[in-house]
Amino acid sequence: MLSRAAAIRRGAAAAFSTVSAKTETGLYGFDVLRTAKGFRRFVDEAIQRSDELVAYVAQMPPSAEIVRAMDEISNTVCTVIDSAELCRQTHPDREFVEESDKASMMIFEHLQYLNTNTTLYNAILKAESEGALLTEEARRAATTLRVDFEKGGIHLSKDKLERVNQLNLEIVQLGRKFNENVVNKPGFVDVYPASRVPRNIQHNFKPVYRFKPGSAEKQSNQMDTIRQQGLRIVTDSENLSAVLRSISDEEVRKHIYMVGNSEPCENIGVLSELIGARDDFAKIMGCKSYADFAIRPNMAASADVVMSFLGDLSNIVRQKADEEFKIIQDFKRKMCNEKSANLEPWDEDYFIGMMKSSAHNLNSSVIAKYFPLSQCLKGLNILVESLFGATFHQIPMRDGESWHPDVIKLSLHHPDEIVALVCNFSSSNGRTPRLSHGELETLFHEFGHALHSLLSRTEYQHFSGTRVALDVAETPSNLFECYAWDYRVLRTFALDETTGDPISEKLVKALNASRNMFPATELQRQIFYSIMDLTLFGEQPSKPMDTVSTVADLKQKHTSWKHAEGTQWHARFTHLINYGAGYYSYLYARCFATTIWQQVCQEDPLSRSTGSTIRDKLLRHGGSKDPSTMLKDFAGDAIIRNSGTGVVPDIGALCREIGL
Ligand SMILES: [Zn+2]
Repeated sequence: MLSRAAAIRRGAAAAFSTVSAKTETGLYGFDVLRTAKGFRRFVDEAIQRSDELVAYVAQMPPSAEIVRAMDEISNTVCTVIDSAELCRQTHPDREFVEESDKASMMIFEHLQYLNTNTTLYNAILKAESEGALLTEEARRAATTLRVDFEKGGIHLSKDKLERVNQLNLEIVQLGRKFNENVVNKPGFVDVYPASRVPRNIQHNFKPVYRFKPGSAEKQSNQMDTIRQQGLRIVTDSENLSAVLRSISDEEVRKHIYMVGNSEPCENIGVLSELIGARDDFAKIMGCKSYADFAIRPNMAASADVVMSFLGDLSNIVRQKADEEFKIIQDFKRKMCNEKSANLEPWDEDYFIGMMKSSAHNLNSSVIAKYFPLSQCLKGLNILVESLFGATFHQIPMRDGESWHPDVIKLSLHHPDEIVALVCNFSSSNGRTPRLSHGELETLFHEFGHALHSLLSRTEYQHFSGTRVALDVAETPSNLFECYAWDYRVLRTFALDETTGDPISEKLVKALNASRNMFPATELQRQIFYSIMDLTLFGEQPSKPMDTVSTVADLKQKHTSWKHAEGTQWHARFTHLINYGAGYYSYLYARCFATTIWQQVCQEDPLSRSTGSTIRDKLLRHGGSKDPSTMLKDFAGDAIIRNSGTGVVPDIGALCREIGL
């Protein structure tokens, strides 16, 4: 009952966490978290409060008070979960990571107990069915709570329930193993000689040595003359794309691509087990696939609806993507002076990067001088002030409150609110005080999530901010991404560090043009990821699925690019774990956000009336309002359309944006 939908984290350069203003001084504003060991008390106190509330609910007649008390249980437990998860994933201190990891395990165990608590389930069933709930939000809360209980199998027979619990545990453990492998086993390639790696990125890699090919140790006592220096390139996802973009030697690029897209190979086995466990689980729940189970509470309502939406989109984008492919291939042929050279998968990042920089002459260090972090934060302030009449203040951290020197605490003040809302902002790019434009986009994206939490006003915590149906949760964040590309917005805060001159319209145009150079290729990739995610967790064949060949086939079918035989790129696609069958939500959100931008914001993006509309028709509601109704109220009926038993986004705005 307590698992609430969280927004998809991009795990990139910026992260916000929001808490209501507190005077205490521990981690994330919780006094008890002054020390790592404090996590133990944090969990104990949450469990104690939760137990009191369970006892309280047990003796209540059916009423709205039951919904309120259960909402408090949910909030108590989720507060611990959110803090422990954030700490586990971001804290630099080992003891904090270990303690929050333990806390996370303990609170999940308690969650399991709550999710199978029949006293609570029966109380909510009664409150829902006896008409004791007067407001729409209370009725929606009761229904959501009941459905969430049933997701845990509480309504099933005892032996089925036992099996569900066992499967849930397996699913969590397999997911952790998958994610750990991605971190711990990134793979590496030793490149000899070091000169095959461009000089400007050599310092990122560790030197390695070998005897020059052809020389044998025993033949020589002049080590220095025959020893050859190379570089060890660790192929984790971040390194991989940076390296593939900059290595001109095709043989080296290919080798790095092949290794980077095959590791960690253990994850193919882990993924198969996970697919099996999720499928068994979904069947017990009465669904034909895990994808159906996961999508049922969303706007899309069924996997078939999403699949047909994606299939249509794949067809629509195909021709343009093929044309783009040909343009890139021609460019490669010209560059290599080989008329029949084929464009290979390991060429994608390299030649696209090269074409973009040569077409628009964008120099990243010139761009970065407009985006020092302090200016970017001012940009956020300008946004909230012009849109919502609110102000942001940076407030100093108290002792013990910050978990990292790069964390900044911002507090949002609104003339009509009483409570000051605080959000922590951390930049993983703390070493350089300047952001790239891509990082600015991420900052605005995460800020969109933060605003959704800060500005929602719902009766129940369970519905606040980002706790909405997964396929609408990314809409505010995608909308605020649009702001990062608009000249009228950028000129207000993107000022040259030395001269103070605002960024020129010409430069912003070039940034946009560079982004829009191969839009169909980019969209096609997102469609392919979504279809892959949906297929892997969709209806299973009678024999266990061979995910490697399935993914290869889907890539051939849905993209203009070849699959490189021997690669199994999905072994490190952690979205499969965290949001199984939910990746399509990105595309939903992108369509919604593009429509909203064009219909509501584009004309005057920074006006107060635009801001009021965003706040009153989107952010305020959190998950308390039916998402289809909310979107239609916000941007007009045409923003969605019905398809089968579910709802799909209109793609008109997206097609216009990318010139389809
Ligand atoms: Zn997001």
